[in-house]
Amino acid sequence: MNLALSTPVKQLPRVGATTASRLGQLGVRTVLDLLQHFPFRHEDFRTVTPIGQVAIGATVTVRGTLELLRSRRSFRRRLQLTEGIVRDASGALPVVWFNQPYLAKTLKLNQEYLLAGRTDARYGLSLVNPVLEAVGPDPTHLGRIVPVYPSTAGLPQRTLRALLKAVLPSAQLLTDPLPQSLRTAKRLVERSHAVAQVHFPDSPEHLAAATRRLKFEELLRLQLGAILVRSSERGHAPTIAFNQSVVKGFVGSLPFQLTDDQRRAAWQVLQDCTHDEPMQRLLEGDVGSGKTAVAAIAAVNATAAGFQSVLLAPTEVLADQHAGTLIELTRKVPLRIGLLTASGASIDGREVRRSTLTAAVRKGEVDLLIGTHALLSGTLTFRNLGLAVVDEQHRFGVEQRRALAALASTEGSRTPHLLSLTATPIPRSLALTLYGDLELSMLHQRPAGRPRVETRVLPSAESATAFDAVRAAVARGEQAFVVCPLVLESDATGAAAATAEFERLTTGPLANVAVGLVHGRLPGKRKTAALEAFRRGGTAVLVATPVVEVGIDVPNATIMVIEGAERFGLAQLHQLRGRVGRGAKPATCFLLPESETPSTRERMGAFLEAQDGFELAEKDLQLRGPGQLYGLRQSGLPDLRMASLTDTELAAEARTAARELLVADPALTRSPELAAWARTATPFATEA
Ligand code: ADP
Ligand code: MG
Repeated sequence: MNLALSTPVKQLPRVGATTASRLGQLGVRTVLDLLQHFPFRHEDFRTVTPIGQVAIGATVTVRGTLELLRSRRSFRRRLQLTEGIVRDASGALPVVWFNQPYLAKTLKLNQEYLLAGRTDARYGLSLVNPVLEAVGPDPTHLGRIVPVYPSTAGLPQRTLRALLKAVLPSAQLLTDPLPQSLRTAKRLVERSHAVAQVHFPDSPEHLAAATRRLKFEELLRLQLGAILVRSSERGHAPTIAFNQSVVKGFVGSLPFQLTDDQRRAAWQVLQDCTHDEPMQRLLEGDVGSGKTAVAAIAAVNATAAGFQSVLLAPTEVLADQHAGTLIELTRKVPLRIGLLTASGASIDGREVRRSTLTAAVRKGEVDLLIGTHALLSGTLTFRNLGLAVVDEQHRFGVEQRRALAALASTEGSRTPHLLSLTATPIPRSLALTLYGDLELSMLHQRPAGRPRVETRVLPSAESATAFDAVRAAVARGEQAFVVCPLVLESDATGAAAATAEFERLTTGPLANVAVGLVHGRLPGKRKTAALEAFRRGGTAVLVATPVVEVGIDVPNATIMVIEGAERFGLAQLHQLRGRVGRGAKPATCFLLPESETPSTRERMGAFLEAQDGFELAEKDLQLRGPGQLYGLRQSGLPDLRMASLTDTELAAEARTAARELLVADPALTRSPELAAWARTATPFATEA
């Protein structure tokens, strides 16, 4: 039969409507889909044991000629028995199948078979219920390395294997998108060969080479796609000159010394802004590492060069807090700060009408506009926007980032330089896999004078200890957080849990203490009010769902209690822990896991050992996989069939290869097929 790659599977021999629909459930509709339905593992059935050496209770594969075959009913046990004998040069072995009467009709005497199964001595040494396959030049199920496929109910591995075996010659029709020169340089086997070998490998070495080739291809496609999409969307940015005296003056006016990491990051940002290619830099830093100060330096420098900046925060609370912090930090420099949220507008801390603010932005009378995404929905126009900063970038969708890049200026529209801030400690390797050649700055150091946070894990029987500590801290005039988990990723259950805990605490361990409550279900105004009250010290304890994680800054808070701690990712726990220890006083973080399973113990133990968020993110990656990395879960991950996000070495090779290809041919105009192939990849969308 002549198969094209596009031939529908339902035209294949022995594929009826039922099998076709089951294949459909796996996303397999054509021969090509089938070829790309890769096994998720293999079993090595190559070892054939001489019959004379078969031991009792062993799982073996033997190869022999079938002699004698009969079916009978065992009356006592009411079983249908099919019995035979297989023989090779070393001996003979009885074989028995239970309740498979059709075997007697399909098996052929004097035919050579491969049989695999377990031996048993109940009826004398015999092979019980073995699977089998007639010996031929190219076995499918036995006597070789056998593929195991992702499948669905009613679609046995045997069927999938037989189908793949049948269409495998069509792998020859696959073209190879990778240039020969790249294949040679990277020692990559050809695609058609790789596809054939990944299904039915000739040896473990062939399988390894095929797997490497297919993984590389996926990672390269991801990288090329990300870079091509970005460069095609890249407009021109204004060049913002580095004003050394202004920056020095501002840095000197800060109430603290910048850390070396902050200095380096600020320098990188300022350098990027001098180019007319829009900056796309991700600034990663642990909670409290001082990302805002770096952003402030960039904004102050942009102002000096005559450009406006915008800072987008994920929530109103954070927008308010940023405005407060930045007004404070920039007291000594001429930076006019606007704040625009759904609930109001202000300039330099004074409330104004929205229309007043938007007019000021248009006229260039506001240098730095801070706001939430509400800022993107209107028809806001700047006079001359040069820099956009996005805080907690993973909380914004691609569309919002596009809208940000498209914010207009009256004086010639250009794409602003983009600086994304994130406290999600994405390990560098993973960030590079995901974001391609996105520029990355990292703040590892803690600002000087910050005490380490003591961390304690308490079994539920000892949870009272945590609340004793909370009461003691409150008595000293300090404050505390109590965080309740989102049980089901939904605000509703988290809100209920937090409300219930609030009731329990205020009538029990924290009676007579001023306790506030904040969760995702509260209306914006009440949420802001609750956070404001806590920040000002009006309430001493704040019971909250993980909303507090996004960066509220209360230096007087010294105790963090995390309930249901095992429900959080390690990196997220770390972010929560970072909410305390922001002042000079010693701070404690109590983890109250609900379960005491080995996996909980392991994860809590890992958390106790590490203090660096990046280290914890790596551990999360190992213990729970990339899907659990906080922030990535919401953003969606690329669909990788072969490669994994943790194949970081291969990802690095693919990244280098992508760069080299694009240096030689920037838009891949000389390789249209490669370009088309790369563009259809679905790169991780965040930085598109
Ligand atoms: P984050 O990286 O979590 O956004 P922020 O930028 O909000 O951190 O900084 C947290 C706090 O630390 C702020 O109060 C800020 O003023 C202060 N801070 C920033 N940099 C330093 C530094 N180098 N030394 C001391 N304090 C700093
Ligand atoms: Mg922050």
